[in-house]
Amino acid sequence: MSTRKQPRLKLRTLILLFALLSACVTLVNSLWVIYTVQRDAVISDVLEDNTSYAYRISVSVDQLLSADLSRLDYSADRIAGRFAEQGLVKEEISRLLGQDKSFNSVLVADAKGNVLVSVPASLRLDGKPLRDMEPILRRSVMISNAFRSIAGNLVVFLSCPVTAADGSYLGLVGGSVRLDEGNALHELIDQHVRHDGAFVYIVDRTGRILFHPDPTHVGTIADDAVTRTALRSTQGSLQTEEMLAGFASVPAAGWAVISQQPLSTTNGELQALMWKVCLGLIPLGILAGILIMGAGTYLSSPLARLATFAQQLDSRESYEQIRAIPVRFIEEWRIRRALLQSASLLQEKISHLNQQAQSDALTGLSNRRAMVDAIAGWQRAGVAFAVISVDIDHFKRVNDTWGHSAGDEALRVLAGLMRRCARKSDLACRVGGEEFMLLLPAASLAEAAEVAERLRHTVEITDIETVGRITISAGVARWQPNGESTATVFEAVDRLLYQAKESGRNAVVVQAPDSPMSSFLQ
Ligand code: GH3
Ligand code: MG
Ligand code: MG
Repeated sequence: MSTRKQPRLKLRTLILLFALLSACVTLVNSLWVIYTVQRDAVISDVLEDNTSYAYRISVSVDQLLSADLSRLDYSADRIAGRFAEQGLVKEEISRLLGQDKSFNSVLVADAKGNVLVSVPASLRLDGKPLRDMEPILRRSVMISNAFRSIAGNLVVFLSCPVTAADGSYLGLVGGSVRLDEGNALHELIDQHVRHDGAFVYIVDRTGRILFHPDPTHVGTIADDAVTRTALRSTQGSLQTEEMLAGFASVPAAGWAVISQQPLSTTNGELQALMWKVCLGLIPLGILAGILIMGAGTYLSSPLARLATFAQQLDSRESYEQIRAIPVRFIEEWRIRRALLQSASLLQEKISHLNQQAQSDALTGLSNRRAMVDAIAGWQRAGVAFAVISVDIDHFKRVNDTWGHSAGDEALRVLAGLMRRCARKSDLACRVGGEEFMLLLPAASLAEAAEVAERLRHTVEITDIETVGRITISAGVARWQPNGESTATVFEAVDRLLYQAKESGRNAVVVQAPDSPMSSFLQ
C-alpha cells in the first residue's frame, strides 16, 4: 500500500479551474484590447474633431479680420487725399464705425502716432498718443496683440497705413476691437460655444487670451503646453495629461484658435462603453460557464466512474459495469481495457480460490461448505431437494488390506462414479473421510432412490485397480419447503444409512414418503 497522501483535488475541479482561468484571462485580455483600441480610436477622433473645429473657427476669424482690414484699407484710401480735412476724415471713420459691428472704436493718427480724430468721441482720444506705437513704426497693415487701450479696455488694434499720393507716410487709420464687449468677432466666436465639456479659446501671438468662455481668463497669459504648441504650428493636435486639444492658426493676425476637451470626458465615455461591453458579455459569460462545467463533467465523468469501479474490481458486476462506461478518448479507452483485464483476472482468481475453498482436494467433489451454500440457495429459492448419504462398507478393512493410498484411489473412483450417476444440476460432495452426499435439487424421492440404487449397483460391479471391488450403503431422504428443517432431514438420512448398514450393508434405505418409515431397496 502506498503511504502517499490521497490528493484532494478532483480532475473535474481541476479542469474547471483551468478552463475558467483561461477564459478569465482571455476575457480580461480581450477587454483590455477593446479598451485600448477604443480609447485610441476615441482619442484620435476627439483630437481630429477638435483640430477641424479649431480650423473652421480660424478660417472664419481670418476672413473676418481680413474683411476688417480691407475696410480700413478702403477708408485709408479715401482719406489719404484729404488727410488734413478733419471734418471729412471724421465723417469717413464715423461711416466706418457705423457700417457694422466690426469695431468698437475707429481713429486716425498722424505719422507721429498722435490721434487726430476718433469715434466715438466719448472716448476722448483726440490729441493723445497711441498706446501701441508699433503700427506707426512698422508702417504696414497690422493686427496688434491684445493691450489695454487708453480708455482702459482690453483691445486688439487693426490698422492700415495712410499713404499720400507721392508715397509719403501720413499716419494710420485703425479700429479697435474690444475683447470684453459685443462686436462681430465676439458674435462669431459665441456661435461656437461647445457642449460636452469642450471649449474654444483664442490667443494672440504672446499667448494672451483674447476669447474664452470663462470671461475671467480673457486678458491673462496662457502658458501651457497646448498654447505654446499651437502658437508654433499652423494646425495640429496635442494630448496632454488633462486635455485633448486641436488647434489652428489665424494667419492674418498670428493668433491661434484652440479647441479642447478634458480627457476625463473621454474617459467617462469610454467607461460607459466598457460597461456596455461588460453587460453585453454577461449572457455569453454565463453560457461559457455552463459550457465549461459541461465540458469538465463530460471529460472527467468516465474517469471518475472508472476510478469508482476500479475500487470494486472484486465484485462480480464490476466487469459489466466497467464495460458499460462510455469512453471518448484513447487514454480512457486504455484505462478501461486495463481495468477490464484486471477485473477478469481477479474474477478468475477469485472463482479459482472459491472453487478451491469449496472443493475437496482428494476427489475434486464439493466439500461440506459448498454443500451448505447450495442448500442455503435452494432454501432461499424454495427448491425442494433429495439427499443421498453414502458410506463405504468396511472401508477400514480396505485400508488395512491394501494400504491407505490404495484406499484413497478407491475414494477417487467412487467420486467419479457419483458424478457419472448424477445429473449436471446435482451436487456430489465429500463430507467426511469416506462419507459422501449426493444432493439432487427438484428431484422426487423416487428419482433419488433410483439414482442411489444405480450408484450402489455401479459401485458394486466396478473393479477398482488398487482394491478390487467395494460396496456402499446409502440412505435417501428429501427436504421440501415448509416441511421439516434441513437438520431433521440430515438426521433422518443418517438414520437411514445406519439402517442400511444394520441390514447387512451394500443397501439403499429410502425414507417412506410422508412418513418416517423407511423402505429397503436391497
Ligand atoms: P462400515 O461398513 O461400518 O462403515 O465400516 P468402516 O470400516 O467403513 O467404518 P467407518 O465408516 O467408521 O470407517 C472409517 C474409515 O475410513 C476409517 C479410516 O481408516 C477410513 N478413512 C477415513 N478417511 C480416509 C481417507 O481419507 N483415506 C483413506 N484411505 N481412508 C480413510
Ligand atoms: Mg464411515
Ligand atoms: Mg464406512
